[in-house]
Amino acid sequence: MINLISAEEMAEFRAFIAPTVTATSDGKEKLLVTCGGAIRCPRCQGTSRRTKLQCGAPALKTSKTQKCKFHGGASTGPKTAEGRQRISASLLVHGHETNKIRAERQLKTLELRQLEDILVLTGGVKRKAGAKPSGYKQINTISEAYEYIRVTENLPTGSLGDAGD
Ligand SMILES: [Zn+2]
Repeated sequence: MINLISAEEMAEFRAFIAPTVTATSDGKEKLLVTCGGAIRCPRCQGTSRRTKLQCGAPALKTSKTQKCKFHGGASTGPKTAEGRQRISASLLVHGHETNKIRAERQLKTLELRQLEDILVLTGGVKRKAGAKPSGYKQINTISEAYEYIRVTENLPTGSLGDAGD
């Protein structure tokens, strides 16, 4: 049998992995030491209501108060309006749906409805029933139709015919 490290090295290693802080002023252990000192991690600062002793679980890495998930260590979610907006924008996924896909679809539906208005105006089709997308403004006259096309196609003023053409 060959010793991989000497006794001095082993003592040094144990000193390295041993907890440096044992207890806080309120008598609670800051560190959880297990597996003979091989594992050291922040210990939950909660107290068991049953045993009145400090919780023996490791604290969650994300916990600001160094608590486990049973003692309120989990995040309670974004609080600011920007934070909530950011999470909402990045996380919404339902099946194939995301906020981005929905926004693109809404724009395309809006365009389709406006083009339908123009077709209705020129006598091509009957207007379909149903809710209109947000941002929808019904086109009732030829000049409004020209204005819509001019704006959406980024054409300069006066490039299309006048009202009553
Ligand atoms: Zn706990």
